[in-house]
Amino acid sequence: METDAGKIAILGAGPIGLEAALYARYLGYQVDVYEQGTVAENVGDWGHVRMFSPFGMNRSTLGLAALAAQDPNWTPPDDDALLTGAEWADRYLLPLAESDLLRGHIHQATRVVGVSRADALKHELIGDDERRRQPFRLLLEAADGQRTAEANLVIDATGTYGNHNWLGRGGLPAVGEAEAAAKIGYRVPDVLGRERDDYAGQHTVVLGAGYSAATTVRDLAQLAREVPETRVTWLVRGDRPPGEPIARIEDDTLAERDALARHVAAVVEADDGPIDFHAATAIERISVERNDVTDEDGSLVVETSGRTETQLRCDRIVANVGYHGDRQLYEQLQVYECYATGAPMKLAASLVGQTSADCLRQSFGGPELLVTSEPDFYILGSKSYGRDSRFLVAIGLAQVRELFSSIAGRESLNLYQDVAGLISK
Ligand SMILES: Cc1cc2nc3c(=O)[nH]c(=O)nc-3n(C[C@H](O)[C@H](O)[C@H](O)COP(=O)(O)OP(=O)(O)OC[C@H]3O[C@@H](n4cnc5c(N)ncnc54)[C@H](O)[C@@H]3O)c2cc1C
Repeated sequence: METDAGKIAILGAGPIGLEAALYARYLGYQVDVYEQGTVAENVGDWGHVRMFSPFGMNRSTLGLAALAAQDPNWTPPDDDALLTGAEWADRYLLPLAESDLLRGHIHQATRVVGVSRADALKHELIGDDERRRQPFRLLLEAADGQRTAEANLVIDATGTYGNHNWLGRGGLPAVGEAEAAAKIGYRVPDVLGRERDDYAGQHTVVLGAGYSAATTVRDLAQLAREVPETRVTWLVRGDRPPGEPIARIEDDTLAERDALARHVAAVVEADDGPIDFHAATAIERISVERNDVTDEDGSLVVETSGRTETQLRCDRIVANVGYHGDRQLYEQLQVYECYATGAPMKLAASLVGQTSADCLRQSFGGPELLVTSEPDFYILGSKSYGRDSRFLVAIGLAQVRELFSSIAGRESLNLYQDVAGLISK
C-alpha cells in the first residue's frame, strides 16, 4: 500500500510519537506533533521508576544518529543501562525533541480535542474512496484558545497513562469513588521523593496486582522502614498462590522485573512487616469523613468485599488498576475496535493469540496489523494495545518502522537498519 501521506499529524510527543516524527522527518514528510503537555510528559510523571528494559531497547538508531549529528560530544547511555524514566527523558527523549529534525515541529501545550474527516461524519462515505480523499480535520486547544489544523495522515500516539481504569468491582467506580477523588491516586506515586509528605506516617490502601502496584508497595515498604508509623494495606482482586502477591514470569530475562516480584513477595511474607496483604478482595464503597476541628476532608472509610469483608480507615488510596486509551478522540472516525481491549481490531486479534504474560516474548506481526478501517489513520504506541498492558517501547519502534515501509509502499524500507550500518562504519 502506498499512501500520499503529504502532511502528517502526530498526536502525542511521548517516546513513540517522537520516534514516529523523527522517522517521518528523515523521509522528508511535513510533520506536526501536537502534545497536550510537555515532551515526554507521562514518562516524566513516572520518572522516579527504574525501567525494566535496558536503554538499548528504548532508543532507535535514528535517534542516536540525530543526537550524534547534533552534538559530536554527546555520549549516549550504555545500551545495557537500566535508566529511570527521568534519566531516559533527560538523556535521550528531550534532546531528541530539540534536534534539528524535530525542533519547530512539536507544538507543546496543545491538546487534540478530536479528529474527524473534513466533511464526512462517522456514518458517512462507508467504504467510499471519497473518504480517503478528504483531509483530516483536527480540533486543537491551547492557552490562547481553540483552532483547527488539517492533515493527510494521522498517527495517534497519545498513550494510555492519562486515562485510568476505575477501582471498583467489575471495572465500575466503587460507590463514592468520585467523591473521594482528591485522596485517590491512579499513577505510580513518587513516595520516596517529591510526594513523600503525602505518604509518610499515613495509612495507604494500594490496589492492583501488576508491576505498577508492586512498585508502589515496594516504595511504601521502604518509607515505612524510614517512618515507622507508615502503614500499607494491599488489596488484590484475584486469588494468589501463597508467597506470590504478583505473578512471576518463568525464567524472566529482565532481571529488574523479576527482582521486584521477589522483593514484594518477601516484604509481604515478613512477619512484622508493614504490608497487610489480602488477595481475592475488592473495594465496594468509599466514604470521606469530615474532620470536626478543621471541617476539612479527613480519613477515608473503605468497605471491602470478597475474601476479606471489612471496614478500614485510611488516609489515601493508590489504585494501580490499569489504563486505557482515549477513544473519544477519534469517535468521528471509522475505527473498528476490539470489544474486549478497545485496541484497533487487527492488532488486538493478533495479541489475543499471544498468551505469554511476558511482553518480551511477543512478536510484531507486520504493517497490516496497524491498518484501521479509517484510511490513513493509525494508532501506535501503548494506545495501540488498548487495555493490554504488555506494550514495550521496542514494539513501538517496530511499529514505526513497519508503518513507514507500508506508507512508502517499500517493504524493504528500514531506516533503522540503514542508519545502524552508517553508524558502525
Ligand atoms: C511506570 C511505568 C514503567 C514502564 N517501564 C517500561 C520499561 O521498562 N520498558 C518498556 O518498554 N516500557 C515500559 N513502560 C510502558 C511504555 O513503554 C511506556 O508507557 C511508554 O511511555 C509508552 O509510550 P507512548 O509514546 O505510547 O505513550 P506515552 O508515553 O504515554 O505518551 C503519550 C503522550 O501523548 C500526550 N497526549 C495524551 N493525550 C493527548 C491529547 N489529547 N492531545 C495531545 N497530546 C496528548 C501525553 O501528554 C503524552 O506525552 C512503562 C510504563 C509505566 C507506566
